[in-house]
Amino acid sequence: MCDKTSRTLVRAMPRVVVPGKSDPLHIPHRSRHVPPDAWCDYPQPIPPAWTELAARRGFRIARRVRDRYHVVLECLSCGAHTAVKVFTVRDAAVRCGGCAARAREQNAQGAGLTFLRRDPESRHYGYFRAPCGHTVRRQFELIQRVRDGKTGLRCSVCLVAREQDEARAHGWDRIGPDPVGNANYRHYRHPCGHVQRIARGNMQHGQCDCARCGESWSSKPSTIYLARISLPGLAGDVIKFGYSAHPHKRFKHQLGLPKSTRVRFLRLLDMPSGHAACAAEKAANACLARNHPDLVVPQAIYGGLINVRSEIYWPALRPVIAAEMDRISRQTSAS
Ligand SMILES: [Zn+2]
Ligand SMILES: [Zn+2]
Ligand SMILES: [Zn+2]
Repeated sequence: MCDKTSRTLVRAMPRVVVPGKSDPLHIPHRSRHVPPDAWCDYPQPIPPAWTELAARRGFRIARRVRDRYHVVLECLSCGAHTAVKVFTVRDAAVRCGGCAARAREQNAQGAGLTFLRRDPESRHYGYFRAPCGHTVRRQFELIQRVRDGKTGLRCSVCLVAREQDEARAHGWDRIGPDPVGNANYRHYRHPCGHVQRIARGNMQHGQCDCARCGESWSSKPSTIYLARISLPGLAGDVIKFGYSAHPHKRFKHQLGLPKSTRVRFLRLLDMPSGHAACAAEKAANACLARNHPDLVVPQAIYGGLINVRSEIYWPALRPVIAAEMDRISRQTSAS
């Protein structure tokens, strides 16, 4: 590699294939939208002063191109051709596109990556294949820092997969980054449907109790409830069929009910575990919604008053739910 590979050279230069020429031509980034045939020969002699100047920079002037301002430099180290404006030859920082490309590839290799292509939209970025096989888009600058051991490179696809595995191990589903933007948190969904932010570190260690199901929800006792609710501004009452480790707390703190709401528990059914309660309640609610769609209260009616998306019915469904609770009770004591 020639001595023209300074730090800045690792940035990518676009390349074009000029009609009638065999070697690819490196061109300045600002000229990337110039069509390839614009780089054909400009048939004028090369002034000896230019030749001398180019030689001092480690280049030979191969030809004049495009217009009276442009020349093609041939790198005396690597032989690559780079188009530049004549005045840049006076600038000691004139760059060889071929050496830059090689430096870029070696940087990538040194960082454990394979350089794939430049990002046509931004000259500071390129696409690389990570050791895991995924393609990552990174700044060339960052690749250099990775190579120098100053920072690491994480594949975001693999990271998400790893976080999903961590979440599944504790019964959660990772649904996205933190909605509030804290880098240490992620957004997770519990099997009960409840969605909450949890620090990733806590998820890794299983410190991830569901705010809805309660402490160590899956193994601790839980309760399936049927409650009658009088919402302010609503002519008739509605009923809610659900489960919670702490039904009273749930209605008081988690459902976002208006202060003047009246809640009366019609029935509480003890369940041996949150897991059993969750499974039985989900199956029952699915069955109720399927068989009695006319008794499901549309969300438009209670939306904004209760912080749930379903499980709200008209009181006429009460006997059916009672029978359902009897069945769950029998099933639970039998097992
Ligand atoms: Zn070169
Ligand atoms: Zn990956
Ligand atoms: Zn839950």
